[in-house]
Amino acid sequence: MNPFASNQSKVEPLVAPCLGRVENIFIKRDDLIHPIVSGNKWRKLKQHIAFAETQGKKHLVTFGGAYSNHMVAVACAAAVLGFKSSCFIRGDELQYQSNHYLRLAKLYGMDLIPTERTAYREGKKQLYETHFAHKPEAFFIDEGGAGELGIPGVSEIIAELDFIPNHIIHASATATTAAGLLTGMEQNPEFKNTILHAVAVLKNTPEQQSKLEGLKLPVAFNVVTGFEFGGYAKSSKELMDFVSEFISQTGIIIDPVYTGKALFALKIKIETGEIKEHESVLFLHTGGTLGIFSDAFLSAVGN
Ligand SMILES: *Cc1c(COP(=O)(O)O)cnc(C)c1O
Repeated sequence: MNPFASNQSKVEPLVAPCLGRVENIFIKRDDLIHPIVSGNKWRKLKQHIAFAETQGKKHLVTFGGAYSNHMVAVACAAAVLGFKSSCFIRGDELQYQSNHYLRLAKLYGMDLIPTERTAYREGKKQLYETHFAHKPEAFFIDEGGAGELGIPGVSEIIAELDFIPNHIIHASATATTAAGLLTGMEQNPEFKNTILHAVAVLKNTPEQQSKLEGLKLPVAFNVVTGFEFGGYAKSSKELMDFVSEFISQTGIIIDPVYTGKALFALKIKIETGEIKEHESVLFLHTGGTLGIFSDAFLSAVGN
């Protein structure tokens, strides 16, 4: 039996003066779904794993960078559910001692396959074919849990809500989470006036935009640009200070790679009046709390 299967996350009022407003803002705590398996990564993995089970597969094979929440999520879920797991890691210089993500994945029993960057970029399917095509128990899961199977698990978030916010906002990278949320909004017509704001945490807004437009769903969204802070996992003192302030005011851990940027965008939208005073906001905490233990953040706080 799948121990994560029935997990729903709670919604609570978000009282954070650093956002510029404390009323009518709510946070959905997908970060609490599991202490290590990042919230949206579990939502995206669910259907992949269910499908692997129906196919009689026993070995999850995936892909990720050195700081991949997805990699750790797959490693943990595999350990819990009795699968073997392997991950191609971007960078052949890496080993499990390189950082706490890789160490955790290794602890969960994942086989890490450090991979030269060019080979990684040139084709995940190819890598999979070369190493695993002859292994009947292996099951391919794309980097980040992207793809069709990632969407239905995320769409359940909307059905779990017991109120209808004017705005939903969250951190977005491959836009798979955003696609799931839009799908959920379309399936629950009460959300026809809700606007989804997918905050791009890396410089790929056009790709995200076209992926979401391609869904052709009659629901409103925008891919929010301008909060990349230089790109994926890049940061600034302003962002670090904001993340520290938010944590001290709420007791909720956020990270500077994903949720920190999305909350910063929310603060600016409130400041500029794009989100109006009487309008309700739901912030989706997508998890990723391991990001707070990165050296870059730890050395930035307290200085
Ligand atoms: C992976 C991740 C995202 C981005 O999800 P996408 O579906 O790729 O857009 C957002 N937040 C956190 C914490 C993540 O780990």
